[in-house]
Amino acid sequence: MKSFRTRLTLILMIMIGLTMIVAGVAMAKVFKNSHIIVLEENMAREIKLLSRTLDFQSTENEEAITYYTKEAQEIGKLIDSRVTFINSNGDVVGDSEKDPLIMDNHLKREEIIEANRSGLGHIIRYSSSLDQNMLYVAAPVTVGNVFDGYIRLSVSLRSIDEGLERGWATMAVWLLILFAIAALVSYRMATSLTLPLEKIIKVARRITQLDYDARVQLERHDEVGQLGKAINAMADSLQNQLKRIRDNEDLIQSVLDNMTSGILMIDVKGNIAVINPAAEDMLKVKSEQVLGKSYLEMKQHYELSKVLKEGISLRVAIHEERSLYYPEEKMMRIDGVPMLDEQGSYKGILFLLQDISAIRRLENMRSEFVANVSHELKTPIAAVKGFAETLLGGVTDEKTVRSFLQIIYDESERLNRLISDILDLSKIESKRIPMDYSPVHLSSFFISVMETITTMAKKKGISLQMEIPDELFIEADEDKLKQIFINLLSNAINYTQEGGRVKVIVRHLEHDQGEDRVQFTVSDTGLGIPKKDLPRIFERFYRVDKARSRVSGGTGLGLSIVKHLVDMHNGYLSVESELNIGSSFTVELPFLQEHEG
Ligand code: ADP
Repeated sequence: MKSFRTRLTLILMIMIGLTMIVAGVAMAKVFKNSHIIVLEENMAREIKLLSRTLDFQSTENEEAITYYTKEAQEIGKLIDSRVTFINSNGDVVGDSEKDPLIMDNHLKREEIIEANRSGLGHIIRYSSSLDQNMLYVAAPVTVGNVFDGYIRLSVSLRSIDEGLERGWATMAVWLLILFAIAALVSYRMATSLTLPLEKIIKVARRITQLDYDARVQLERHDEVGQLGKAINAMADSLQNQLKRIRDNEDLIQSVLDNMTSGILMIDVKGNIAVINPAAEDMLKVKSEQVLGKSYLEMKQHYELSKVLKEGISLRVAIHEERSLYYPEEKMMRIDGVPMLDEQGSYKGILFLLQDISAIRRLENMRSEFVANVSHELKTPIAAVKGFAETLLGGVTDEKTVRSFLQIIYDESERLNRLISDILDLSKIESKRIPMDYSPVHLSSFFISVMETITTMAKKKGISLQMEIPDELFIEADEDKLKQIFINLLSNAINYTQEGGRVKVIVRHLEHDQGEDRVQFTVSDTGLGIPKKDLPRIFERFYRVDKARSRVSGGTGLGLSIVKHLVDMHNGYLSVESELNIGSSFTVELPFLQEHEG
């Protein structure tokens, strides 16, 4: 395809070429004509000169032909022309080039007719004998009564033709040079016209290929400049619109990315069109692997696929709760809503997935807790009731009566402890009690803790030891801290045989980076805890050995209260234990608490 520029250049060059050829032809014509006129004038002058200077003789004379032929040859040589003498009858009496005797009458020749009429005749005629164009000029000449006739001169026009040919050759060279210059100029002109258009086309193409930064750089105010500006404005507006669309997309994407619920959209064809990170996480799939694929690809989630299938085939809203078993067992709430576009036609179905395992677990724990509490309360009440009934039945032996009353007293004590532990725990769990932080001087704190439990220890002959830095403080809720250590220490005493040892070690852990912490270790040389029970001892009502606990009067709530209180202090609780050697509980608390606000 020829470009506009090439076409324009070609047209300009053809026009220039044509003009130059026409001008050349016209000039050649003018040149030739003026040359011939000059030649004619010269020849007329020569005829005039001849008519004055030649020594004419009578044409009737017998030697006339010889004489005039000789003269004609001599003069012809001199003036480099053919010379012809013709008498008034039109007979040739002398010719420089031909024998007059074989020449026909010349009276009817055009130049002679014209010479008769106007005094000077001229004509250009092709001479077949000489094979060239000849210019004939004739004039009537009368010299007294000696000569009456015509002198005719003729010259070959070959020199003019040759001159013209040479002229044409020079002109052709010049024409070529001019043409080359014209070509260059017209190319530049065409370029200056089409270059800006080409620039605009290039920019428009880049915009089509989504390169919205492309702009036309033109410093022009004409139509082309305006076209450039219009293209730039169009690119601006496209860019703005695109940015708005991208911003919207980003917003929607970040909403999807940050949702804690899973989003799964299935399109009309049953393919997965959208899946957000939460859903990927819940279903343990990667978006790259499932996007654009059929929802049936997720067959490992059998229950989910069933619900999806129902929603997709019926195109109705769906609200279901199902247990999924892959990758782990969990309870899922699945809500599906069909999506319609503005015209109301079906576009797919959007599913919201919520992992409600934690809520269900909590609900289960609640009811389990209620069941446990009722069970725990029932046992001491049954004992109190049983022994009271026996006493009412009329037991008289004073020793038995006393021992029964002692049991009733112990059981009601246990009941009391149980109720106050349950109350504590429910208060702590419902986070109703605020933390009341203050600096606690640890060595004096432990002295007061030991005072509380020292009678208990003495009863079992257990030695209490402390290893606490003198001037160590910690920021804590003192009452709750006390509850933690009284629980841990009474467990240690309870689950240690007579004559054992219970030890408290407090250490200040100074960290280079991060916060300082304080580590408390409560260790005993008691019964220890079997490995299999270790992970569960912090659960409510969990007791390693019911019998062992009953003797100790434990409720199974102590350690879960401790765990909660340590959590409230932003600390860690861990346990190490070996059966029949002893247990060691470690509490690590931050040195300073982070205060809100
Ligand atoms: P309890 O009121 O029965 O002591 P806890 O929640 O305090 O309940 O403790 C849970 C169980 O952990 C106890 O029943 C006991 O078997 C075991 N346990 C706790 N502390 C110790 C310890 N220091 N040594 C051995 N076993 C312990």
